Amino acid sequence: MRVRVDQSLCTGHQMCAIAAPEVFGADDFGNATVLIDGDLPAGMEAAVLRAQGNCPEQAISIDA
Ligand code: SF4
Repeated sequence: MRVRVDQSLCTGHQMCAIAAPEVFGADDFGNATVLIDGDLPAGMEAAVLRAQGNCPEQAISIDA
């Protein structure tokens, strides 16, 4: 499972980082960054799905 943030949609609420702080960080403007390259380690999927569901801008996409 890989996660991406569409920077054209992200407005920097950081709700994703609250839901999954091991996966989402912030750039200098407060927009989300993905901290993990490649496949997510086991055990992080549930938090990432929660982050995706909580993103008000639907900026998070997940590739299985
Ligand atoms: S919750 Fe969505 S819009 Fe807000 S910082 Fe995270 S990815 Fe961006």
